[in-house]
Amino acid sequence: MISRIVLGFGVERQRRQLVGILTAFFICSAPIMGQSQKQTAGSYPIQPVLFTAVNLNDNFWAQRIKTNHDVTIPFALGKCKETGRVKNFEIAAGLKTGDFCTEFTFDDTDVYKIIEGASYSMQISKDPALEAQVDSLIALIGKAQEPDGYIYTNRTIMGDRAHEWAGKKRWEKEEDLSHELYNIGHLIEAAVAHYHATGKKDFLNIAIKAADRVCEDLGPGKLQVYPGHQIIELAMAKLYQETGNKKYLDEGKFFLDVRGPNGDPYNQAHKKVVDQHEAVGHSVRAAYMYAGMADIAALTQDASYIKAIDDIWEDAVSKKIYVTGGIGSTGNGEAFGEAYELPNMSAYNETCASIANVYWNYRLFLLHGDAKYFDVLERTLYNAFLSGVSLTGDKFFYPNPLESHGQHARSPWFSCACCPSNVTRFIPSVGGYFYAQKDKSIYVNLFAQGTAQFKLPDNSVTLEQKTNYPWDGDLQFLVTPQKTSSFEVRVRIPGWAVNKPIPSDLYSFEDTFTEQPKVFLNDKPVALTLDHGYMVFNRKWKKGDRIHIQLPMPLRRVQANAKVEADKDKLAIERGPLVYCAEWPDNKDNRVLNLVLSPDVKLTGEYKPDFLKGLYEVKGMGQFASRTSATEVKTEDTEVKLIPYYAWAHRGAGEMTVWLPDKKGSAQPLPAPTIASTSKISASHKARTLMALNDQMVPKNSNDQSIIFYHWWPMKDTVQWLQYDFAKATAVSSAKVYWFDDGPFGGCRIPAGWKLLYKSGETWIPVKNKTPFEVTKDGFSTVSFESINTDALRMEITLPKEHSSGVMEWSVE
Ligand SMILES: [Zn+2]
Repeated sequence: MISRIVLGFGVERQRRQLVGILTAFFICSAPIMGQSQKQTAGSYPIQPVLFTAVNLNDNFWAQRIKTNHDVTIPFALGKCKETGRVKNFEIAAGLKTGDFCTEFTFDDTDVYKIIEGASYSMQISKDPALEAQVDSLIALIGKAQEPDGYIYTNRTIMGDRAHEWAGKKRWEKEEDLSHELYNIGHLIEAAVAHYHATGKKDFLNIAIKAADRVCEDLGPGKLQVYPGHQIIELAMAKLYQETGNKKYLDEGKFFLDVRGPNGDPYNQAHKKVVDQHEAVGHSVRAAYMYAGMADIAALTQDASYIKAIDDIWEDAVSKKIYVTGGIGSTGNGEAFGEAYELPNMSAYNETCASIANVYWNYRLFLLHGDAKYFDVLERTLYNAFLSGVSLTGDKFFYPNPLESHGQHARSPWFSCACCPSNVTRFIPSVGGYFYAQKDKSIYVNLFAQGTAQFKLPDNSVTLEQKTNYPWDGDLQFLVTPQKTSSFEVRVRIPGWAVNKPIPSDLYSFEDTFTEQPKVFLNDKPVALTLDHGYMVFNRKWKKGDRIHIQLPMPLRRVQANAKVEADKDKLAIERGPLVYCAEWPDNKDNRVLNLVLSPDVKLTGEYKPDFLKGLYEVKGMGQFASRTSATEVKTEDTEVKLIPYYAWAHRGAGEMTVWLPDKKGSAQPLPAPTIASTSKISASHKARTLMALNDQMVPKNSNDQSIIFYHWWPMKDTVQWLQYDFAKATAVSSAKVYWFDDGPFGGCRIPAGWKLLYKSGETWIPVKNKTPFEVTKDGFSTVSFESINTDALRMEITLPKEHSSGVMEWSVE
């Protein structure tokens, strides 16, 4: 946690996808982003079909796209104004006076990303008012740009007093935290999107001027630095596609090749990029870089990049991804953890990392044409990503944990606002992931009701999907070629439908289910045969031809590889592409962390159209475990209800879990009533995590972040207090406390000292201790004192001079 997380805030990030925008027209046929205006060398073997060629009219994604347009984009734009992000541009432009008025040097990117999102969204829904707002922002950005093309409001405003991350000179701290290239990368992405949406070149010209500044200053024979936060690699590839000017491609490649060795794994600078074979460091930086390597490999045919990202993908998918498709398990550096280090409550899974994971897997598909990348992409999209934005479109998660004691809730905004602004640009482009094309082959990768247009070398084809996915696995495809001709339609059969939830041994189905997907062509059954995960229909197509696929969608139990300690003796429930969770409002006594769901329990479900915008709810008979004493656990039967994971946290904060124990022995029972567990807790610093004090969960050590803990960070060198108000006056004579200490990279240490006071009337009197107030790490610190009868006990904690402290458990007897 803690100090590195905050550093990490400089760090998490976003990006866009190559499926970008295209002129208002359909289909691919163009290289990389499918949006090139100029003839450029190289491209992916498989071409995107852009979201503008795809019309989704389902009741799942179309709703999300509309909410993003109607709520999220205006809301995020409003936040950029309210928080000073727009004012920074106004000051840099000389229209207002004052200092840089937000917290981070990369805050400019939120404005860029929202313009990008608005640009995509305006291609789906015309919106002159939004277009006018965007135009005025672009004019402002142009005025904030320095005459030589450099654009970075913090330095322009502050000069010699620039942010400590920015350094005294341009690019001086780029490899560290300045984010100058990161900002320009997002600027380029937004500008290309805007040009395609509107045909107006003003924003694109600003981006070209900034990119030219970068090319002048940085490169072989010039200043040689790598971007501290990746994104510009992709953006330069895109600008090359757009302009045909190869210097941008060369610059993007330079930024990859100049990275490493011997730098920080945090930003993937520990090795040359071609020598990297494992997913490490900050997960958003990492996945943006892997996506950028794919883009540049596709354009330059550099096989060594592909080898590296293929190996890294194997590592991530077999050891470092959550069942929800989230990546980046640890908040410490917002980073990939060690192999199989996948804690649930402290799972970081930044929303931006899910977006980056979609980008990366999508590009690997474009390189290799294998449906397994879409098995990962779909899992991430429907679960880890969607959890990041509320159904109402105005509340967001930054981390997306798989377990909560009630300390998590979506927030309208963050001081580091990468995730909300990234959501604005991702959602409107989601249609671009559904299809792809290679010569005369059409790929159908994702499912939702709607239509798509394809331009084949010798024909035009409309493909209509009729389905109620993800609630139903019945898929009908109406193929309408302009004229009768031969081509191939490749329909992805999801791994989950053929007993392979993920393309590795990290997760598998615990139950057996042998029914195969059924396939029909013009109502005649066809045998299921798969080629790289696709059912291939290669024939002469005529108007009215129909493919019908029935994917069985039973409720499935998933188990993790035995090496994943956090999921030991637990199961998760899935149906189709959706991972389920148990959440407090649906279950007995508003508790779920003490539930048990045996493997033999029959699960049933039904679609509820009015529940959380419509979802399929699941239920089954489980057990409710509670302690009757320190050693005794009782269980009683109770109905367990589950909802799709993406839909949690809409009804207030409380318990949630994706993984449920499959036997009583592995249950986490409710605590037995004790003096502590029946006390009311208060503290010098209020936090939702106060519940950690009396939950009777004994940590493995002082840095056990798999359970909930309470801390005072970033406060230090002060006296803080915690207080138990007992349910009734009680005689007490001893106490023990387990301190939180997250080690050399964290912000907390065991405290400098502590003492206990008891309440007598309205005054607090120190207890007369019979043993010293121990301060122990990795175990309980205990104290005995002369028995007193009191209503309340208060602990005073002296924080260390240079660090904060925290408490994992406090019990009283
Ligand atoms: Zn983010």
